[in-house]
Amino acid sequence: MIDTTRRVALITGITGQDGSYLADQLLREGVRVVGTTRGQPAATSTRRHAEAGLEIVEWDLIDKARFVAILDRYKPTEVYNFAAFSSGEHMDRNPESVTEINGVAVLKMLDAIRLSGAPIRFCQASSSEVFAGTGISPQSEATPRVPRSVYGAAKILADNVIKLYREKHGLFCCSAFLFNHESPRRGHGFVTRKVVRAAVRIKGGLEDKLVMGDLGAARDWGFAGDYVRAMAMMLRANQPADYVVATGLAHTVAELCERAFALVSLDYRDHVVVDPALVRPAEIAPIVGDAARAREDLGWEPAVSFDELVKMMVDAELSAENAHP
Ligand code: NAP
Repeated sequence: MIDTTRRVALITGITGQDGSYLADQLLREGVRVVGTTRGQPAATSTRRHAEAGLEIVEWDLIDKARFVAILDRYKPTEVYNFAAFSSGEHMDRNPESVTEINGVAVLKMLDAIRLSGAPIRFCQASSSEVFAGTGISPQSEATPRVPRSVYGAAKILADNVIKLYREKHGLFCCSAFLFNHESPRRGHGFVTRKVVRAAVRIKGGLEDKLVMGDLGAARDWGFAGDYVRAMAMMLRANQPADYVVATGLAHTVAELCERAFALVSLDYRDHVVVDPALVRPAEIAPIVGDAARAREDLGWEPAVSFDELVKMMVDAELSAENAHP
């Protein structure tokens, strides 16, 4: 077991959704938390964390030497790798950068950890996208990895390196196959945030319609706070292993719209317009995770339901609109 009295967590991608939730959790537990960013202006959440004792360091994952220096300076006992190109727009234009950051950077980190000789535990934020082309549903840790994007291919590269370093070099390193997870801190480009924000703005008379792609597309959506809790549990387990982190329940985009608009007393059918040009190729099989291993080995369960998640996001959006109309 790790000595919890001297835990130091390094979280890459601290300005993102998951980094901010994990930092909240670990700081509450009294862990020293160091977060990395490429150095953009601090987000609101980052400022809030700074007040709570979070330390921020600048680092672009491309730079291996800088990681070695960070290990040397902060001596983390656990590393959570959340930094990644995570949204659609960069993927097709920059396949090499996506592969470098989402895949090769993990090899650089694990090799630096191996060479350091320190017993550092490592958790990788992998993705349900690694299963996108399998045609098997639900997906578990045993499901074959078949990507349909450079993002998925790069995550598989990282997962393979993790397995190799675990089995060949004995490192405590593991991948969390994260299915979609959301929160009020989700970026604006993602569908849940887009729908919730539009519902609130239409209710406030700031917009009049929401243009969407396929309303029948379904996702296994969970709450980010639950998913980072799973990753912290993975690094406290006796043995390293890879885990699917998912709710096991799929909801359509139409259901998401229905719930979000109903919470502001609107009928989404009066405001949501489908643009066929936005409809993406259908999934080969529903993307739904089977998290039985996480339940059995770690005792992990998601605590927040889909309805509670949508309500949490709508409430936060309403507060933000009222604060800055
Ligand atoms: P996010 O909000 O987009 O945050 C990702 C962070 O990565 C950004 O804050 C960015 O920070 C950092 N980053 C990007 N490129 C970088 C680079 N070259 N060097 C260093 N940092 C870089 O993502 P998230 O939703 O928190 O997701 C966390 C992780 O989980 C990601 O790896 C994502 O692929 C994975 N994942 C997420 C979901 C989901 O539903 N949220 C599902 C499956 C997998 P700076 O701009 O400050 O550098």
